Amino acid sequence: MAGLLGMGCGPGAPANSPDAPDARGDAADFRALRERMVREQIEARGIDNARVLAALRETPRHRFVPAPFAARAYADGALPIGLGQTISQPYIVAAMTELLNPEPGDRVLEVGTGSGYQAAVLARLVAQVHSVEIIPELAERARQTLSALGIANVQVITGDGWRGLPQHAPFDGILVTAASEETPPALLEQLAPGARMVIPVGGAHQELFVFERGPQGISRRSVFPVRFVPLVREPGAAQR
Ligand code: SAH
Repeated sequence: MAGLLGMGCGPGAPANSPDAPDARGDAADFRALRERMVREQIEARGIDNARVLAALRETPRHRFVPAPFAARAYADGALPIGLGQTISQPYIVAAMTELLNPEPGDRVLEVGTGSGYQAAVLARLVAQVHSVEIIPELAERARQTLSALGIANVQVITGDGWRGLPQHAPFDGILVTAASEETPPALLEQLAPGARMVIPVGGAHQELFVFERGPQGISRRSVFPVRFVPLVREPGAAQR
């Protein structure tokens, strides 16, 4: 994977042509596109965790993008979701999910709900997902999308994820989908023994890191360069 620049929530890929059909209702077509996405973008790049691949095959990504982009939902890039934010490239979602090493009984924290797609993928792999989003409109839209799909084990919280969610800690995994210059200390504190945190760190140059709380303390390794939108810090932001 070395040398691959993964598109997290960086600037989105160009919009589809204005006359591209919005085939949102055509489930069979979308299933075929999704299968191809998993084979050509994800398995071909070395992701081989069977549970992760199954979760990607089962999660309707086109439902998480604005209608005009539905036809591009299974393309190899990030897409705009409004309010200056983006849904990450499918490969990045897959790689981060695999690095988290999710187990069926886990309770996981996601910081940066965005569209809710990453949370929906995690929801198929673990027992409970708590996902924090700082932009209230996005949090509300993600709640609606998840609820329309009958995904009941994701709790979307409006607030500043920099501080994590002490009331629900510790977590068996933490996945951060916005980049910060420094690793949020509260998130490291909220890792259960043996748990991992997958997080993009940096400013102009960002790298994806995996932190793990082992018996000797917290270890850290860099995985590959990425490009995500910044993790915004609002010390006064309320959580609800
Ligand atoms: N995981 C998302 C993509 C995330 S884009 C998906 O699957 O669609 C990054 C998101 O992080 C944006 O929605 C942005 O508003 C949010 N964000 C940025 N700073 C944040 C913070 N401090 N706390 C919570 N969310 C934050």
